Amino acid sequence: MTDEADIPEDHPRYQSLLTRHRIEEGVEKGITSKQGLIAEGRGESFDYLIGEETIPSADEAERAAAARLLLADHAVLSVNGNVAALVPGEIVSLAEATGADIEVNLFGRTEERMRAIADHLREHGAENVKGLAADARIPGLEHERGKVDADGIFDADVVLVPLEDGDRAEALAEMGKTEIVIDLNPLSRSPRTAAIPIIDNIIRAVPNVTRHARELADSTPEELEVIVAEFDREAALDDAERAIRDI
Ligand code: ATP
Repeated sequence: MTDEADIPEDHPRYQSLLTRHRIEEGVEKGITSKQGLIAEGRGESFDYLIGEETIPSADEAERAAAARLLLADHAVLSVNGNVAALVPGEIVSLAEATGADIEVNLFGRTEERMRAIADHLREHGAENVKGLAADARIPGLEHERGKVDADGIFDADVVLVPLEDGDRAEALAEMGKTEIVIDLNPLSRSPRTAAIPIIDNIIRAVPNVTRHARELADSTPEELEVIVAEFDREAALDDAERAIRDI
């Protein structure tokens, strides 16, 4: 396999090549599952249709997400195998910029993969990685899939769930959590459940939420609340769907 540094940055498909490289490496390191490879393929096709760029409504969602994370009493960034492979350092930076916790949360949970992901995040600078205690449950989900940390996702008021499956996104919303979902498919159940759906590639979205959070760091709670209130989730979903249909 080639090294990341060997991918020429001026290649017209640079971002797509980088994404594939990171996912492939994720599978080899035992971080990303085979299901995750399929999810990546679905994501790529939607990204192609969206134009492989952050559309303006997605940027607005990313700004609203930053404001909501800064307003949270306890925000948690949920990390699965694709997220860990694609944006490990970027998730650590977002946690630092917003004061959020990081929790590993897997669809197909195995202790081995949980540990591999936690180690990978620590290699990228994470100090405290939650998810391994698994001492609480999300009601309404079968045993393994509902496992979370009591002082992590279970306790959180705001959860960022990138690339989450629809069932769990719905179950978290049922618990009264404010969900921020990153997903390239505006028709998927998870972004449709979210208070703030971000229809963008996670590779672009996470650094952009961090940039907004840094810019908003000195804002008052009132100013942040205005940004959140002005964000229109239906308009953002419609806009992304239009961008895909009007290609
Ligand atoms: P649902 O149950 O919500 O309908 P699904 O079955 O479509 O979900 P999966 O196939 O489990 O969901 O998850 C993959 C989702 O993640 C897809 O919607 C895909 O568009 C999205 N996705 C994959 N890669 C990325 C990425 N790099 N950035 C953002 N979204 C992505």
